[in-house]
Amino acid sequence: MSIRDNLNEITGRIARSAEKAGRNPQDVRLVAVSKVQPEERIIEALEAGHRLYGENRVQEAQMRWSESGFRDQYPDLTLHLIGPLQTNKVKDAVSLFDVIETVDREKLAKTLAKEMEKQSRSLPCFIQVNTGEEEQKAGILPSALSEFYEFCVQECGLNIIGLMCIPPVDDPPALHFAFLKKLADKLGLKELSMGMSSDYEWAVAHGASYVRVGTGVFGARDYS
Ligand SMILES: *Cc1c(COP(=O)(O)O)cnc(C)c1O
Repeated sequence: MSIRDNLNEITGRIARSAEKAGRNPQDVRLVAVSKVQPEERIIEALEAGHRLYGENRVQEAQMRWSESGFRDQYPDLTLHLIGPLQTNKVKDAVSLFDVIETVDREKLAKTLAKEMEKQSRSLPCFIQVNTGEEEQKAGILPSALSEFYEFCVQECGLNIIGLMCIPPVDDPPALHFAFLKKLADKLGLKELSMGMSSDYEWAVAHGASYVRVGTGVFGARDYS
């Protein structure tokens, strides 16, 4: 299957899952996760017309999207940061990305807000929630979420549009998707970034507005 075929297949699956759940398929967008993928696969996806991509590392994303010239060549590109963000990378992240999905601590929220003001770029953000309460995983704990949300909005003036999660590998993901949806509803947040290659149809059934699919779009990542 070509990358164009993969994109069509996944888009079709998203639409069917949305319809089954009584949702409008247009309300779900596919973030093609391009991290680690070689340039020829990126070009295939771009030539197939796909314009929404996710990256988890700032420096790698700068090379893939800025230095390659794709950013200039495709002005309608949208780039989401979906990986952990260190405060010393905030400046580069704010200038490259269109959406930050991984706001998860006060220092980062403050630094992002300051940098966005400096660059006059008010990026929509998601709060990452550690729904599985895993020690080594990024994300704010569910019990601290509403206070953190208030901090981001009231103290920092960030434009928080939704919540994002990465469920623990060994748990049924649907539980986490349903939980994240409940947390978002409580805060009146509309956008939900959840679901990856193995479980995005479940995520759509539970209200995802963005699914983040890497392997399913591009094939396996080669870390060698
Ligand atoms: C890599 C990554 C994905 C995509 O994973 P696949 O299993 O390849 O679809 C999704 N979300 C995040 C946060 C990632 O780091």
